Amino acid sequence: MRSDANGNQFCALTVHAHPDDEASKGAPTFAMYAATGVRTVLVCCTGGEEGDLNNPSLKEPGMPFYGLDETSQRELLATMRPQELAKSVEIIGFHKTHMLGYRDSGMAESPENSNPECFHMADMDDATGRLVKIIRAEKPHVVVTYNDDHRGYPHPDHIKVHEISIRAFDRAGDPSWYPQAGPVWQPLKMYYSVWSRSRLTTIHEALMRLRGSSPYDENWFSRPNMDDRITTKMNIADYLWARSGALKAHATQVDENEPFWFGLSDDELAEVYPFEDWILAESCLENHKPSSENLEDDLFAGISESKYSFRS
Ligand SMILES: [Zn+2]
Repeated sequence: MRSDANGNQFCALTVHAHPDDEASKGAPTFAMYAATGVRTVLVCCTGGEEGDLNNPSLKEPGMPFYGLDETSQRELLATMRPQELAKSVEIIGFHKTHMLGYRDSGMAESPENSNPECFHMADMDDATGRLVKIIRAEKPHVVVTYNDDHRGYPHPDHIKVHEISIRAFDRAGDPSWYPQAGPVWQPLKMYYSVWSRSRLTTIHEALMRLRGSSPYDENWFSRPNMDDRITTKMNIADYLWARSGALKAHATQVDENEPFWFGLSDDELAEVYPFEDWILAESCLENHKPSSENLEDDLFAGISESKYSFRS
């Protein structure tokens, strides 16, 4: 078990928008922590109700979606997504999952954005309060969330995940906020996930070399490059099975034959780009300042060594 100077087991909490986001962003990192004595917690803000069926093979004869009309397809999807999430969580090894309890808001500018139950419409302070309550109960040292640059993927639920996470990070340790939500707890570090440009370039080049084609086109390369903000590079070569396994668990969302997800095998990926990259966005540690020139290789770096006291 890995623990801090006060004897508390290290805990990392990650906030995601939809079932399947935990598989595509950070699954190997969290699988590694779960396997090496760190408590890992997933917060999933919506049930993914607006997701489409993205796997055409499930519509073939003998498969669950064969012959279903649009309404029945949606109903079946809604029942399958929690089961898929449970399977993915088991593979990654999360010790606990919390559903924040909102409805999927659908893609940007779809009519579902204005459903009063949806995450996008949720009052910011109420939604932040739900997350603060979970943070105070779980006591994570590290919180992981989406980054602040939404140009690459402006899904309203992903934007909201970022917005409530940055507020919850500040408010969880502040007794003037949400006095009914349990004793205060100040997480020590907050990280942003990022799909680095170097990862994209390296994987694109490997696909061209090994397969002769790549799904990464102009659109992908015109996404903002945030590589100069990366502070943390983790070698997760031995845990890539968590990414591929968890993605496949979300069978309604992920097509096993889709080169975007599975163009390279785990072994090939481990050779080409065995890393996950993170941006340290907030830190309460005074003597620990990683940067793009001085990279960390562990989200808990500096915590054991640091003397810290919680805000009160
Ligand atoms: Zn999502």
